[in-house]
Amino acid sequence: MKKIDNASIKDFTTYKLSGHVKTVYFPDNVLELTELLQSLDKYKIIGNGSNLIISSKYDGVLISLKNFDKLDIDDEYVKVGAGYSLTQLSLNCAKRGLSGLEFAYGIPGTVGGAIYQNAGAYGKDMSCVLEKVLVLDSDYKLVYLSLADLKLGYRNSILKSKNYICLEAYLKLKKGNADLIKKEILQNTKIRKEKQPLEYPSAGSVFRNPSSVSAGKLIEDAGLKGTRVGDAMVSFKHANFIVNVGKATGEDVISLIDLVRKKVYDKSGILLKLEQEIIE
Ligand SMILES: Cc1cc2nc3c(=O)[nH]c(=O)nc-3n(C[C@H](O)[C@H](O)[C@H](O)COP(=O)(O)OP(=O)(O)OC[C@H]3O[C@@H](n4cnc5c(N)ncnc54)[C@H](O)[C@@H]3O)c2cc1C
Repeated sequence: MKKIDNASIKDFTTYKLSGHVKTVYFPDNVLELTELLQSLDKYKIIGNGSNLIISSKYDGVLISLKNFDKLDIDDEYVKVGAGYSLTQLSLNCAKRGLSGLEFAYGIPGTVGGAIYQNAGAYGKDMSCVLEKVLVLDSDYKLVYLSLADLKLGYRNSILKSKNYICLEAYLKLKKGNADLIKKEILQNTKIRKEKQPLEYPSAGSVFRNPSSVSAGKLIEDAGLKGTRVGDAMVSFKHANFIVNVGKATGEDVISLIDLVRKKVYDKSGILLKLEQEIIE
């Protein structure tokens, strides 16, 4: 199995954070993954690291499932490995005139990470297309979970509470018009480019939106756009994004999150909840 010792966190986070982790492992199959899990004390499964803040003090290892990347498309049915890129999947389906994953283009995660988080955009999320998922449970057993078993909610799934590892996903899409699908993807991309600071490394929205008001509005109203800790900065373009403007560490991002949360609470009385995940 391939592994990288003293790996740069930059290569495994879309924040491009500074620092190193002990080792990143790349199992090729379930057997290798199971043996690896049984041999480790402290590990974190990663997809594309697009929702992660990894502290430079993290003393565990990372397990990347990027080699779980098989894709089978049969008519409207898609079977896809957890390590497959969600954006690439959206594109492949669009090319075949399969509709349902237009929302997913531009979400820079893997299929496994998207299911873990029930990733979504433009009013759609993974629950709209998933039929079932193959997971490795905490006793290292292979289990199929139906859509109902997955308990998908707003950026939530049963994978989070049960520590299940997603290995592959089964999706059902709809036959559509390839030109219309492409048009919707282009429109969504335009919106992303206009609203999000894609010119800087980030991990997307930092905080979940409270029910009454958007997190971005609360942060902007607290006058926090442009606030910095080290090289982590609250984006001027979208206040619910923290961007890495240089050599930010996980600690810089975490300190900035604490500062934003405190200032927003002082101003509005609302305590923001984190959408991103801290690994420390
Ligand atoms: C520019 C930008 C735009 C974004 N836009 C959106 C958006 O519109 N909507 C949205 O929902 N998110 C968005 N995100 C956030 C992020 O892309 C998603 O949360 C994505 O689903 C994370 O997937 P990942 O593979 O990168 O997971 P990672 O960040 O690597 O991991 C996230 C969590 O998932 C777990 N995980 C990963 N793979 C597996 C697996 N196979 N089995 C079990 N657990 C696993 C990890 O252990 C971790 O707890 C955006 C991020 C960026 C940088």
